[in-house]
Amino acid sequence: MTTIKASCPGCGDVELTPQQVRLVVCSVKSWSYYAFTCPQCLEEVRKPAGRDVVALLISGGVVAEPWAVPAEALEEHEGPVLSYDDVLDFALWLEQADLVAAAAAGPGPAGPRRTASEPAA
Ligand SMILES: [Zn+2]
Repeated sequence: MTTIKASCPGCGDVELTPQQVRLVVCSVKSWSYYAFTCPQCLEEVRKPAGRDVVALLISGGVVAEPWAVPAEALEEHEGPVLSYDDVLDFALWLEQADLVAAAAAGPGPAGPRRTASEPAA
């Protein structure tokens, strides 16, 4: 049986079976990792898994789990961060909005804040 040697931050070197190692291979290569529960202290240890580590673990019998990150999670966002007040304003606006799609298609990012009862300045 293959023995996989890994390192626990608290206990040092430990020996694991392939079944004790979880290997997650992400579509974003730098997010791939392997994890195991340390057999001595029972803490979960998680470490990044570069291409070499992934290949080594797979060759040792560890089954790789694919992890596909949704494209929207990788989008870059510009502008100010939404605040709690922004979300509250939007929720209040939604309660009285009849034509949400039309407002969303309207001009400018302030579109949803303008309502019939609250004319734009
Ligand atoms: Zn440990």
